[in-house]
Amino acid sequence: MSFNNLDQLYRQVIMDPHKTPRNKGVLAGDTLSVEMKNPTCGDRIQLQLQVEGDSIRDVKFDAEGCSISTSSASTMTESIQEKTVDDEVKMSLLFSDMMLGKEIDTEVPELDDIEALQRVSKFPARIKCATLAWKAMEKGVHEE
Ligand code: ZN
Repeated sequence: MSFNNLDQLYRQVIMDPHKTPRNKGVLAGDTLSVEMKNPTCGDRIQLQLQVEGDSIRDVKFDAEGCSISTSSASTMTESIQEKTVDDEVKMSLLFSDMMLGKEIDTEVPELDDIEALQRVSKFPARIKCATLAWKAMEKGVHEE
């Protein structure tokens, strides 16, 4: 693992969404709120979900932490819009598998956007950064 590779990962995958994270902010109305932390890195995410029946209607997040955690949170909230809870939990499990470097079915169209983040799996210390937002989402929908 060379410094150059990590440097490239940051530039190509991480930095751009981090500069302009999507769905950052606060949701109005009735929402589920979940806070989750990744103590090994110091990341914190506050996730707000609007769940109606078995569908996720909207999501917003507020986060402090490293660029990988923020970038992944932004990507997760993009993938979540108008999905059913079941579908999003399945996506989260697939995402975890990707982060652990497992082979997954890359034909899944929704995964195109997050495939770039798979490169984080080469850096085991950062995997928890990448999965933090997804774990928060899973916790939120299971509390519903
Ligand atoms: Zn982190």
